[in-house]
Amino acid sequence: MFSSLHEIFRGLDRLVYPPTCLLCSSPFDRQTSHSLCTSCERSIINDSVPTCRRCCSTIGPHVAAEDGCDKCRTERFQFEGAMRLGSYDGPLREAIISMKDQSGEILAETLGSIWAGRDREKFLFLAIDVLIPIPLHWSRRIVRGYSQPSAIAHSMADVLNTPCHDNWLKRTRRTPKQFTQSPAMRRENLKNAFQVTRRCQVKDRRVMLVDDVLTTGATCHEAARALKAAGAAQVWAAVLAHR
Ligand SMILES: [Zn+2]
Ligand SMILES: [Zn+2]
Repeated sequence: MFSSLHEIFRGLDRLVYPPTCLLCSSPFDRQTSHSLCTSCERSIINDSVPTCRRCCSTIGPHVAAEDGCDKCRTERFQFEGAMRLGSYDGPLREAIISMKDQSGEILAETLGSIWAGRDREKFLFLAIDVLIPIPLHWSRRIVRGYSQPSAIAHSMADVLNTPCHDNWLKRTRRTPKQFTQSPAMRRENLKNAFQVTRRCQVKDRRVMLVDDVLTTGATCHEAARALKAAGAAQVWAAVLAHR
């Protein structure tokens, strides 16, 4: 009874306030839990260009990138490789920018679930035991009202049916925003910026770190270093986009 009343009210609500796309505000009539119109969703999902398996940046069609690409070949990452939803442009870039305040939480969840749906086979192939979002420093989390890596990771975990723990890793200090720094400064500032917590149980497990963007890879590298020191068997990185 309650459920049918709920459905009726939901239907009425949709009639009076038709759902609109979170990115372009155009109305759409799909009965799905997603919050994007078909056109925005299609453009975000469509990432058909080849990417580097180590750092997930876009590479040319005939580039040999077995040992990484020009951007990452000289880097010594603690993570095994990186996967992405798409490149940092168009609606995906807009979505990532919009996620920076609290109203972006639904957007972050939507992107996580459409990504996990699209790449389900790839994620399952890696036999990941646990998803761990890159933690924000507590002060940044308070200002933002939520953590976007955590929202993305939890919605991916629901689709993949994989555990997700956002209290196994913590950021020990606040680091400056990355676009204000050179890559060398960034690496230096992030050194030992992450620590596993007492709850963390990653020994012999395969971990997928989740973040919104990957630039130099320094953040995922440092987080992976902390997890490997705690015994993780493998650490992979999953980011919405390579910037
Ligand atoms: Zn749209
Ligand atoms: Zn690369």
